Order: sequence, then C-alpha cells, then structure tokens
Amino acid sequence: MTPPSAVLHRHLHRVPYLASSGKGSYITLEDGRRILDATGGAAVSCLGHGHESVTQAMVSQITQLSYCHTAFFSIKPFEELAAFLRDSTGGRMSKVYIVGSGSEAMEAAMKLARQYYLELDNPQSQRTRFIARKQSYHGITLGALSMGGHTFRRQPFEPILLPNVSHVSPCNAYRGRRDGESDADYVARLADELDGEFRRLGPETVCAFVAEPVVGAALGCVPSVPGYLTAMKSVCDKYGALFILDEVMSGMGRCGTLHTWEQEDVVPDMQTIGKGLGGGYAPVAGLLIGEKIVNALDKGTGSFRHGHTYQGHPVSSAAALAVQKVIQGENLLENVRKMGDVLQSELKMRLSSHPHVGDIRGKGLFWGIEFVKNKITKEPFDPSLGIGYKIQDKGLTPPYGISIYGGQGTADGIQGDHVLLAPPYNTTKEEIVLIAELVQRVVEDTFTEVE
Ligand code: PLP
Repeated sequence: MTPPSAVLHRHLHRVPYLASSGKGSYITLEDGRRILDATGGAAVSCLGHGHESVTQAMVSQITQLSYCHTAFFSIKPFEELAAFLRDSTGGRMSKVYIVGSGSEAMEAAMKLARQYYLELDNPQSQRTRFIARKQSYHGITLGALSMGGHTFRRQPFEPILLPNVSHVSPCNAYRGRRDGESDADYVARLADELDGEFRRLGPETVCAFVAEPVVGAALGCVPSVPGYLTAMKSVCDKYGALFILDEVMSGMGRCGTLHTWEQEDVVPDMQTIGKGLGGGYAPVAGLLIGEKIVNALDKGTGSFRHGHTYQGHPVSSAAALAVQKVIQGENLLENVRKMGDVLQSELKMRLSSHPHVGDIRGKGLFWGIEFVKNKITKEPFDPSLGIGYKIQDKGLTPPYGISIYGGQGTADGIQGDHVLLAPPYNTTKEEIVLIAELVQRVVEDTFTEVE
C-alpha cells in the first residue's frame, strides 16, 4: 500500500494526479496520460510548458548567480525586467517592485498606498481605509484576503481580517445589470455607489479603491463594461484617493493587450501583475507604481518601508524577462486576440444553447462559462452540487484529458458555478477547436450525470 502523502494538499483526502513533464499545451502524468492544459493552472502558463529560450535563460542565470539580496545588489535581468515593464506603460508607471506572488504584490500596494499619504508631508494622515469590491479576489495573505470579497475563502478568517476594508458591488453585467439598463446607466449607478461609499466613510479616510479589470477566480472571468474603469477612477480622483488595478490574473497579455487598462485608456495609480509575468516558470509578480507616488517618496523619506528576502530574485527575474521577450518577439499578443476570437465563437457555437449555460464571457484568451439551473431566471444550482468542480474533475479523467478551472461564485446570494479557460498565448487554431470540443463534451456529460 502506498503511504499517505506527506504534503498538506488542498484537500487532505484527495491527492492530485502526479504530473511528470510538460511540453507546449500538454502536461504528461506519471502514468503516461497526456492532459491538454486549457487553463495554464490559474491562467499562469502563458507560453505553455518547456519553452526552451525561457529555460535556457533560467539555467544561465542560476549558473552565474543564484541569489543576492536586493538591499545590497541588483542584477541585470532584474533591472532590464523593470525597465521593460516601465516602458510597456509608455512611461506612465515610473517604478517597478518585483515580488514572488500576486498576494505579496497586493500587500505591497496596500502598504505603499498608506505610506504615500504619510509621505505627502502629512504624518497625521487619516487615510487608512480601502474600498474594494464584493465577489473579487486579491490574494490569500491576510491583507490581500481582507481586500477580496470571496466569501468562501474569507469566511473562517473573518475575525482576523482587516477591519478597514469595505466592499461595493462589482461590475457584473450578467448578474448586476438591470433589465433594459444601458452600459452607461449601469456604470453611472456603480459610480454613484462608490461615491456614496466614499461619503459614508469620510473621503479623507480612504487610501484607495481596488478592482480587477476582469474578475478572475471569484466570478469566473467577468470583464467590466466599457466606461467602468474610467468612471471609477474619476470618483477616486474627486476624493484624492488612489485607483489601484489588480491585473494579477487578467494582465500581462491575457486579455489581448499587455495591460488590460490600455483597452480603456485609463491609467491606474498602481497596478499589480503576476501570473502571465513569468508564465509559471518561476514564482514572480510585481507592482507597477505611478509617478506621483514615486515623487512623494522621493521628496519624503526616500524609501519604501517594506521588503522580502526573495524580492527581485535573480532566477525569477531572468525567467520573467525571457517570457516577456518571447511574447514581444513572437508578436503573441496578436495571436491572443486572434485565437481569443476563435475560442469565443467556438464556445458560443457549441454551448450557448445548452440549457444550463447562462453566460459565456471573456476577453483575449481569458474565457468563463457560468452555469445556471434555470436560464430564464438565472437561478443557480445548489452550491453543494459543486457543478464547476465536477466539470473540472471530469475533464481530468479519461477519456477527456483536459484541464479546466472550475469555481463557484460567492457572496451576496450569488452562487453561480463557473469554469475558466486560459490557453497559452502561443496556442494554435487546432488546439483551440480541440479545447472547445472537449469542454463541450465534458459539460454535456457532467450534466447528464447530475440530472
Ligand atoms: N489577484 C488576483 C486577481 C488573483 O487572481 C490572484 C490569484 O489567483 C491573486 C491576486 C493572488 O495571487 P497569488 O496566488 O500569486 O498570491
């Protein structure tokens, strides 16, 4: 008998499949089975697996210098990566802070937001509060979890979460827009709600408003409607608060432009990035910081009071730099947009008429499908059925062999099950069609079993 796993897996009594290798869009299991990786984990593997120029850059870096502390040393790939990221914003972000995970990036954003107001020649600043959104996810550490509105992940820890974060409605056209309401009216209503929350809290007490431009894990890929980000930024500007975008999942090319905010030409004061930055080759994430914050630091204490042992890690920096060079060099953002269109039409053609598919939405190569019990009323399934997770599990079993990211919306009575799809940026039309075919089969077969 095999001894029980020593790993504290997510589910104590369910050890995940043992994976042994990966190439391109496929992961091979220890038993030889190949799995089509249609999600790159949680929208991480933007170049697929085993990309040679990335692995070579990492090997070269680790042989030259495996580690150094960023308080004492900098290294070329770290400097080059930061310069690349700054320049990718057209200089609208002026400094870059590189860490190991999206949660760390969010913690850094929160602390820097607070420090910014102290640096503005105001040691007595009352700005200590944050406004975030319900049905959002910003990470798992206590600060980041406090920002998120993912009820299921927050629930056991509620008593130890930060008390200075409040949550307004997200922009969720499928669930939140009223019948007959235009995009403009919906946006105006959400802006009004945010304005009201500022006034309720006292605008002079708020550091920042934080939002994902496309909600990932909490809702199953929900893009905000046109005009939303601009309207939210105006409310922040009106009250002198910072506008922070969490692009950890939706950014770095996933939605067809390197930064999702480029599509609405609205520039955040700070922006977190993660998954697509290093494509899973190394743990790496970052915080892009706008000029006014950097200037305040510059004129003030001159240092950010924050730091991690592994920030700007040499191998992570080399991996991320190599990933970004491939994306740029191979013009992969165009492929994201083209293949995204194919994925959209394949999914809609195959699944729109399914009696339990309520909504198919996304951008670029980031797509979500929401399942409902009743298509007319949008009534969700009983959450205990775990439809999204059932689809994820079935996908991994023979004969399907596809990795689909299943989830469940949480908060405010919204319990819609969903799945996420996030193929690599260098995918092909054949792969996209195969993904759509397999998703269709897995979804249909799951519902045949459930009903
Ligand atoms: N922010 C968003 C939008 C995310 O989707 C995630 C992770 O899924 C995070 C932050 C946290 O990132 P990490 O899991 O790397 O800590």
